[in-house]
Amino acid sequence: MEQTMFNPDMESISLTDQEKMEKSLLLDQIEYVYVHSKMYQDKFAKAGISKDKINHVQDLELLPFTTKQELRSSQKRLTPFGDFLATSAEQVSRVHRTSGITGRFIYTALTKNDLDLTHNCGARAFWAAGLRPHHRVVHCLNYCMWMGGYTDHANLETTGATVIPFGVGNAKQLIQVIKDAGINVISSTPSYPKYLEKIVKEDFNMDPRELGLEIGLFGGEPGLDNPVYRQRIETTWGMKAQNANYGVSDVLCNFASVCQENYKLHFLGQGALLVQLIDPLTLKDIPITQGAVGEMVLTHLKKEAQPLIRYRTSDLMEILETGPCECGRTGFRFKIVGRADDMLHVKGINVFPNGISMVLEDLVPEVTGEFQIILDHPSPYTNLEIKVEQGINITPDMMTDLKSKIEQKIKETLNFKGIVDLVKPDSIERTKMGKARRVIRDY
Ligand SMILES: [Zn+2]
Repeated sequence: MEQTMFNPDMESISLTDQEKMEKSLLLDQIEYVYVHSKMYQDKFAKAGISKDKINHVQDLELLPFTTKQELRSSQKRLTPFGDFLATSAEQVSRVHRTSGITGRFIYTALTKNDLDLTHNCGARAFWAAGLRPHHRVVHCLNYCMWMGGYTDHANLETTGATVIPFGVGNAKQLIQVIKDAGINVISSTPSYPKYLEKIVKEDFNMDPRELGLEIGLFGGEPGLDNPVYRQRIETTWGMKAQNANYGVSDVLCNFASVCQENYKLHFLGQGALLVQLIDPLTLKDIPITQGAVGEMVLTHLKKEAQPLIRYRTSDLMEILETGPCECGRTGFRFKIVGRADDMLHVKGINVFPNGISMVLEDLVPEVTGEFQIILDHPSPYTNLEIKVEQGINITPDMMTDLKSKIEQKIKETLNFKGIVDLVKPDSIERTKMGKARRVIRDY
């Protein structure tokens, strides 16, 4: 019989057993943090909370949150790993660095045991998405210090699949390697295939389907939540496009994926992470029930190097389903509805760049799907100025109609006024990963 889960004990654990396990691991982790983490000793002393006050998962609410800014300050105080390092520096086996787009970089340290658990969770995710030991997968995320590079590579290998390290750039060489080395799975960002498609057609004079890819394991950015975009990748490449790689780089590399039956992200970090939701404004806990929306707050359950307690991720999560999925996995299903920081308030409506992305994807090929929101003053907003790339076949006489069509679609779908400025295809700057920055604060 085919093995449907990488770690069935964890992935199909009952809710009662999971709660029991989480309580026991949490109490051990809190004890560990109190003894070994200087940053938390100080934080808890300042808050006047002693560890004997924490006897249940619900008691976590008594503890202060941890923010990215605190991790930055900690690493400024004590370079390089900060005073939240709870082991000796010698016990650290691997170090990554987060991108630091919004400030100072954070060095993420992992011990051998941390890595084993990280790889196990990552392998659960890739296995859920359909990766098996007989596959040959090329990994095309950035290997330069970022966790998505080498650690995801190791996560892929943990499934037993053959992994070819490629990284980003050199797209022509990548296509050649896929052709020559019998590769049947690609791991990349969801926007990358769109970029590769052009090269396959123009430089190799081939139909992407002829390359023989069977599965795309995507992560690192949103995009695949849009069924139209997903369908387009699947039709163009003849492969299954799977959202298989969701993680929070300061906390755990990859702990969620879709399965083969259900196109929703499944939580797969059982035994490694405790997930909680809070209202980002009142900071009150929100129970994880179907339909709940809140900022995801994560607590490590078994972390040695840099354990984090009540870490505010800034990711806004919506719980889509609880209880067992058809695939037998019991982790709740969810989607990320945006970044707490990217959430823009337009006349009382919460607007997320993802929403605009979905509207534009439905209009391809009249637009390329790339856009940028330009803000010239701080919140609140009465409307949003959006630069939108027109499609390659749009002529000047079509532009007025196209602009109104997009503005109307935005109004109908997202309920706010967008002022569209059409720009030439490929004119919005992409990062090395092939994506554009969605919000530009020009003030
Ligand atoms: Zn499932």
